[in-house]
Amino acid sequence: MSVPAVLEDLRAQERAAGRAPGSVQLVAVTKGHDLAEIEAKVLPYGPLPLAENRGQELRDKAAARPDLEWHFIGPLQRNKIKYLKPVRLVHAIEEVWQAEAIAQAAQGWGQAPDLLLQVHNGEVQKHGIEGADLPRVLAAVRATGLTVRGLMVMAPQDAPDAQVLQVFNDTARRAHDLGLSELSMGMSGDYPLAVQAGATLVRVGRSLFQ
Ligand SMILES: *Cc1c(COP(=O)(O)O)cnc(C)c1O
Repeated sequence: MSVPAVLEDLRAQERAAGRAPGSVQLVAVTKGHDLAEIEAKVLPYGPLPLAENRGQELRDKAAARPDLEWHFIGPLQRNKIKYLKPVRLVHAIEEVWQAEAIAQAAQGWGQAPDLLLQVHNGEVQKHGIEGADLPRVLAAVRATGLTVRGLMVMAPQDAPDAQVLQVFNDTARRAHDLGLSELSMGMSGDYPLAVQAGATLVRVGRSLFQ
């Protein structure tokens, strides 16, 4: 596919799911693609947020194009916090110390990213916060002064559609219960299910560049 094809399909998925037109934002996952390719294949189709999952790659691209909206979707080790200065939204906060470290670094940045909390998806040894821990983690992250806008989840790998949809629906219910409005879920292989379940941000990479 391509960016215009995915955008068109996203609008069709919104209609099919009874969602308002434009209620789902495409986040273009640009990891592994250089700026020339991004400028040729993504930027002509509107001001989309761009998402990276590696600190140094993010730093280099964002330094070259500070005019674009950058998101960080990767797991966050302590040594990556320093690369988040140009980032508007961090999708995968899993532990309170990550928010504390961002809040502290942001004092020197003059700006701070907003955050999403990554929810555990039921797979063994995978990333994310257990559902039962979410209220406690949310309160502790908010105590840093940073803004938590919502939840993020990754579908379990190679799971049947019904199970993926259940993970997305569960995450939507948790966000609703917590009063959080943003839901980052859905990738190239499963974003139609995420739109059905109420995603507000879909993180699509591969399909944009094939
Ligand atoms: C790579 C990645 C995506 C995009 O996946 P595609 O299958 O390329 O669409 C979405 N979310 C995260 C966290 C990723 O690392």
